[in-house]
Amino acid sequence: MSINSTLAIDADVIRQRAKRILVTGGAGFLGSHICDRLLAQGHEVICVDNFYSSTRQNILHLLDNPCFEFIRHDVTFPLYLEVDEIYNMACPASPVHYQHDPVQTTKTSVHGAINLLGLAKRTGAKILQASTSEVYGDPVVHPQVESYWGNVNPIGPRSCYDEGKRCAETLFFDYHRQHNVKTKVVRIFNTYGPRMHPNDGRVVSNFIVQALLGEPITLFGDGSQTRSFCFADDLVEAIIRMMNSDDDFIGPVNIGNPAEFTMLQLAELVQSKIPSSSELVYRPLPTNDPTQRKPDISLAREKLDWQPTIELNEGLDRTIAYFKQFLDAQKLQQAA
Ligand code: NAD
Ligand code: UDP
Repeated sequence: MSINSTLAIDADVIRQRAKRILVTGGAGFLGSHICDRLLAQGHEVICVDNFYSSTRQNILHLLDNPCFEFIRHDVTFPLYLEVDEIYNMACPASPVHYQHDPVQTTKTSVHGAINLLGLAKRTGAKILQASTSEVYGDPVVHPQVESYWGNVNPIGPRSCYDEGKRCAETLFFDYHRQHNVKTKVVRIFNTYGPRMHPNDGRVVSNFIVQALLGEPITLFGDGSQTRSFCFADDLVEAIIRMMNSDDDFIGPVNIGNPAEFTMLQLAELVQSKIPSSSELVYRPLPTNDPTQRKPDISLAREKLDWQPTIELNEGLDRTIAYFKQFLDAQKLQQAA
């Protein structure tokens, strides 16, 4: 057999294995990394986004790729596509963004889930839901295990997000039980990295951007509340493993980095990495801000053979390098 015919067979095998995959929220921080990874694996990607909490910037590099298609669409309205898999990432994740239009946030989680589960039911596609550690609310079980039902305020300022995501999980499990839809649910803990929006309002991007601009670092409360931070690359690896796991493993499964830090520790770490005049300033703790959060990832270890590989120290360096470049480019543009 000639080299050319071997290559042709390889290309055929790749074509047969290639899937058409829908990524909702695909222009967002995590969605855009998922699009990148799926394209690199040889799949065709349809990215749906309404730019509620992102810009075209995250997917600019993909627009000329013949295997990539972008559709501007709000998932609270039905959409008709033919796909093999769906990653449902659409939903603002930053408290500042999701509290800006709380009714739309609930609609995005609930109507969005109904529309996409309907699409999965019609096409037979497998569908993965990006759920959240917020389903545990202000947890009294620590670290959080998947069997814990949570401690969530149903009527507070965070409820549009927390309860929206909880209802979406309910819908995923009911579509699975009632209609045999192939569903998967991952509960994502705080994740950070390049392509977060600089004005996103989440703690890692806030602290880094503030320090790079020489502005005060805003610490909410006394800084003793904890979070566990996962780097984006680790998260994407876990999510794709979950999609490709056995159909009978539907989750929910915690995905996050169990290393736990207080917000004061995080602020001091950022200060140590970015020499600037930025001082810490204390601001009131937002209502219902969870006091502690740390995932138990035994299930992900067992079922997905996954654990995070990038510790906060390295992940912060990579995120700082991204924001530095981003802010420098912005300065150049403003000067031009
Ligand atoms: P992000 O805000 O960067 O991305 C969300 C994307 O969804 C944005 O591009 C936004 O424009 C889009 N979107 C919002 N509403 C939409 C709508 N109605 N129709 C179409 N598109 C819409 O946030 P992210 O950090 O990338 O989060 C992605 C997903 O992961 C979200 O569902 C979020 O709840 C979940 N999650 C993220 C984290 C985290 O720490 N990053 C933690 C838990 C859960
Ligand atoms: N936080 C802070 N300063 C900021 C932004 C956030 O101290 O500028 C705190 C916030 O009160 C919370 C933690 O950092 O305790 C994580 O906040 P984030 O908005 O990133 O995510 P959350 O886990 O609360 O959804």
